[in-house]
Amino acid sequence: LIEEAPDTEEQLLKRPPIVTIMGHVDHGKTSLLDKIRQSKVTEGEAGGITQHIGAYQVELNGEKITFIDTPGHEAFTAMRARGAQVTDIAIIVVAADDGIMPQTVEAINHAKSADVPIIVAVNKIDRPNANVQKIMQELTEHDLLPEEWGGQTIVVPVSAKTGEGIEKLLEMILLVAEVQELKANPDRLAKGTIVEAQLDKGRGPVATVLVETGTLRTGDTIIAGTAYGRVRAMVNDLGKTVNEAFPSQPVEVIGFSEVPAAGDILHAAPADKLSKQVAEERKDKQKAEMLKKMSKVSLDDLFNQIAEGQI
Ligand code: GDP
Repeated sequence: LIEEAPDTEEQLLKRPPIVTIMGHVDHGKTSLLDKIRQSKVTEGEAGGITQHIGAYQVELNGEKITFIDTPGHEAFTAMRARGAQVTDIAIIVVAADDGIMPQTVEAINHAKSADVPIIVAVNKIDRPNANVQKIMQELTEHDLLPEEWGGQTIVVPVSAKTGEGIEKLLEMILLVAEVQELKANPDRLAKGTIVEAQLDKGRGPVATVLVETGTLRTGDTIIAGTAYGRVRAMVNDLGKTVNEAFPSQPVEVIGFSEVPAAGDILHAAPADKLSKQVAEERKDKQKAEMLKKMSKVSLDDLFNQIAEGQI
């Protein structure tokens, strides 16, 4: 969309990892996301009212981690289908008192096909019939040989109920991220992904943007899919108004002309006119495609009617 010079080595700075939690229903994805969030609200901002904006950040020893706050595979696959690759690490949750189930296998396959490293969180270890060894055995059968057994897969026993193992899980995420050497250039026009979006009665179209590279600023001209506009205000995951959003940071953005779709790629643009023009062109294209489809339908109908002797 907008030509920019490629980043130089010096411009590239370390950015927080973006993590998605997947796994079988009822194995504790939501509980884990809630517990992580409660246990490690970004330092210095404790007491902020946590807002569910689709993603949040926590901090461990001064290092941030971004979690996509929509458990399940739909968000992951929907975004991938639109070309967005917004996950650096996948946490696969397996209940210690259950085992690997169909959706666990699905989650493992999603992560593998996206080439995203997997960390396994064996959850519900507080339960009396928890059996971590059994889960590790099952993981082995799915090509995920635990490190304890000489393999590559990090397995962390946790309890979303008691909080046991949560800190270790966060440490492991940072360890994997360190190896990945995740970097972005904060010193350029922002590019990001729409994580979720809706029409708010008072505020108009509101979209959560996960900044991938660059810095998004209040006043920036933006475009995402067929939506465009200017960043009127940004709110972070603690409900605080911010004027800048850095790589891997999720923010709610107000100021779109219409509601963008989850998975749309957001670009900040240098000039207002340009993004409006591009958005309009995209809309025209969409319309043309729709018309094409419609005329095809009516032609088919016509033929059918002729065939049936109605005409
Ligand atoms: P999801 O469908 O994967 O998001 O699972 P939920 O987070 O909704 O959890 C399903 C059920 O398991 C809920 O009743 C939770 O309270 C319970 N649960 C989740 N994690 C734990 C845990 O670590 N220990 C215990 N005892 N129960 C848990």
